[in-house]
Amino acid sequence: MSSIFVQSKLNYIMLDNTLFENTEIAFKLKSDSELERAYFLFKMISNQPLVRIGTAATNFALKAHLPVEGLIRATVFDHFCGGVNEEDCLPVIDKMYTAGVCSVLDYSVEGKAIENQFDSAKEKIMKLVEFSDEKEAMPIVVFKPTGLGRFFLFQKKGEGKAFTEAEQQEWDRVVARYHAICKLAKERDVEVLIDGEESWMQDAADDLAEDMMKVYNTDKPIVYNTLQTYRHDRLAFLKASHERAKSGGYLLGYKIVRGAYMEKERERANDKGYESPICKDKITTDKNFNDCLLYILNNLSTISIFIGTHNEESSFLALKLMDDLGISKDDNRVWFGQLFGMSDHISFNLAAHGYNVAKYLPFGPVKDVMPYLIRRAEENTSVAGQTGRELTLLKKERKRRKQS
Ligand SMILES: Cc1cc2nc3c(=O)[nH]c(=O)nc-3n(C[C@H](O)[C@H](O)[C@H](O)COP(=O)(O)OP(=O)(O)OC[C@H]3O[C@@H](n4cnc5c(N)ncnc54)[C@H](O)[C@@H]3O)c2cc1C
Repeated sequence: MSSIFVQSKLNYIMLDNTLFENTEIAFKLKSDSELERAYFLFKMISNQPLVRIGTAATNFALKAHLPVEGLIRATVFDHFCGGVNEEDCLPVIDKMYTAGVCSVLDYSVEGKAIENQFDSAKEKIMKLVEFSDEKEAMPIVVFKPTGLGRFFLFQKKGEGKAFTEAEQQEWDRVVARYHAICKLAKERDVEVLIDGEESWMQDAADDLAEDMMKVYNTDKPIVYNTLQTYRHDRLAFLKASHERAKSGGYLLGYKIVRGAYMEKERERANDKGYESPICKDKITTDKNFNDCLLYILNNLSTISIFIGTHNEESSFLALKLMDDLGISKDDNRVWFGQLFGMSDHISFNLAAHGYNVAKYLPFGPVKDVMPYLIRRAEENTSVAGQTGRELTLLKKERKRRKQS
C-alpha cells in the first residue's frame, strides 16, 4: 500500500492514495442488480461506434415520437439522472445523504430559448433554493446562464455589440432573473453555482456573475462562478478577478472544472480562424486545473471553492493541499463534486472520510435532458479514460461481492 505522510501545520496525518479504491464504500448504496446495470451500461458506452449510432437513432426516434422513452429511462436516464421532476429525486437525495453525500439538483433541460421557459426555469431554481433551505442534504443550487437567457444575447453582450431596444429589455430581464435567484439564496443562506458554457458567450456570463458576487458575496460567498481550466487564460482571469474582489470588498466563489465543450471550441476556432482558447494538450489542462486549485486554497479567506472533477489525481492533490495548509476536512469553503452516476469511488470515499461532497443530480423530462445524456455518453466512450476506470471498479466490486 502506498501512502504519503504529509506534515500539516496542525498535526501529522496519513494520506493514503488508495483512498479511492475502496469499492465496498463506493458502491454500498447500489443493489446487486443496480451494480450489474451500471456495468452493462459502461460496457455499452465504451463502444464509440455504438454510442454514435445510438445517439443518432435515439434523436431520430424521439423526434419521430417513437416509443423509446421507456428504454432510455431504464438505461442511461436512470443511471445519470434523478428523475423527471424534483419529487422523483427525493428518494435518491435521501439515500445518498445516508452516506454523507449531498445533492445539487440540476434542472438539465437545455436548448430552450423562449422567454416563458426562462421564467419557469427561474421559478424552478427559486423553488429549489427554498427547498434547499429546508433540506440539509441539498445545501447548494445550480443554474446555467443559458437556462435564464438566450445564448445569442450573452454572445452579443460579450462581443461588446450594441443591443437593439428590444434586446436591451430582454437582457434586463435576464439580469433580473439572476438577481431574483441570488437575492433569495442570500436570504436563505444557500450557495448558488453558475455553470460555465461555451467561451464565446462566457465573457458576458462572467461579468454578470461578478456583478452578483459584488452584491451578494459581501459577508460570505453565496454566488459561485465556474472556471473552465481547459481554457489557457483562466488562471490569469482568476487572479485578476481576485484583485477586483479584494479592492471591491467582496468574496469570490469558484467552481473549478476542466470543461465540457472542448471539441466544439476547437472546431469553432478552426472554422473561424482564431486561436483556440483551449490548452494545447491534456497535461496543460491538468496543470492549469491544479494551479487554479492551489491558488484558491492558498487564498481561502477570500475565495471559496467547489472542486468539480472525476480526476483522482486532482482530488488527491486537493486533499494533500488542504492538509498541508491546515484546512479542516469539513471546512464549508471547500466542496468536492461529481456528477450522479459517475465516480462514486471518489464521492463516497471522500464523504466517508469527512469531506464535504455533493453530487450534481440532473432531472427533467427525458427528451429534454438528452443533450446532457449524450455529453455523458460521449465523454465516457474512451476505454482508456473514465469508462475504463468505472468498469475496473465495478468489476472489482462484483468480484468482492461474489467472494463474500
Ligand atoms: C460537479 C461538476 C460540475 C461541472 N460543471 C461544469 C460546468 O459548469 N461547465 C463545464 O464546461 N463542465 C462542467 N463539468 C464537466 C467537466 O468540465 C469535465 O468535462 C468533466 O468533469 C471531465 O473532467 P475531469 O476533471 O472530471 O476529468 P479528466 O478525465 O481528468 O479530464 C477530462 C477533461 O480534460 C480536458 N481535456 C481532455 N483532453 C484534452 C486535450 N487533448 N487538451 C486539452 N484538454 C483536454 C477536457 O476538459 C476533458 O473534459 C462539471 C463536472 C462536474 C463533476
